[in-house]
Amino acid sequence: MADLTDAGLLFVLSGPSGVGKGTVGRALRKRLPQLAYSVSVTTRPPRPGERDGVDYFFVAPPRFQEMIAQGEVLEWAEVYGHWYGTPRAFVEKLLRSHIDILLEIDTQGAMQVKERYPDAVTLFLLPPSLKELRKRIERRGTETREAAAERFRSAQVELTLAPRYDYAIVNDRLDEAVRRCEAVVVAEHCRSRRLRFPQYAAEINREEDIR
Ligand code: ADP
Ligand code: 5GP
Repeated sequence: MADLTDAGLLFVLSGPSGVGKGTVGRALRKRLPQLAYSVSVTTRPPRPGERDGVDYFFVAPPRFQEMIAQGEVLEWAEVYGHWYGTPRAFVEKLLRSHIDILLEIDTQGAMQVKERYPDAVTLFLLPPSLKELRKRIERRGTETREAAAERFRSAQVELTLAPRYDYAIVNDRLDEAVRRCEAVVVAEHCRSRRLRFPQYAAEINREEDIR
């Protein structure tokens, strides 16, 4: 489809733990294969089945500190006792190459991104209810009982931040949530303030065609 903007756009997906960011993000990237995913750096130990360089870049805390000092992360935050950050070089390279990129990061990181890249598009994923969110955190089974309870508690605070985002999408039925995220990506590429009109510029210069 003809697209009047060739800029790569930065999309940020946040939402409380267990709301379905990973699930929605994966499904969205299946629908939009040109949407790249930024693999974050973390000091959290890998969960069973997680792969270094695929799910996260797993690093020790001193290496993470060094990355901050060297300006290698474009945002970072402490979440549930571990550090998480977005590698800067990868994101900037893709945006320069006109490729869209998706960050799945927490609310603190999302606000940092919006400050540094005002053109970034932020999406907040909401659960259909707190009861359902609790079920999802428990069903996923990746946390201890205490860790799951902590995530559920901070989810209730995070939900109050939804109005600060450009878009808020309820992840009730997965296919509908993904459809709405896809609609945001498509709509943002049609924003008139982002548009360039190269094909018309060439014609406009040939005035005799107009007369
Ligand atoms: P997050 O990345 O936000 O922490 P996950 O993507 O890991 O969340 O999803 C948490 C759990 O909820 C997983 O077990 C996932 O299969 C389930 N889940 C995600 N979206 C839905 C949905 N729309 N309906 C029901 N379960 C869902
Ligand atoms: P998890 O440990 O469950 O994978 O992630 C915990 C939280 O950290 C989630 O809210 C996730 O979105 C967030 N997170 C993952 N990567 C990053 C990142 O690079 N930066 C920030 N700020 N948060 C991240």
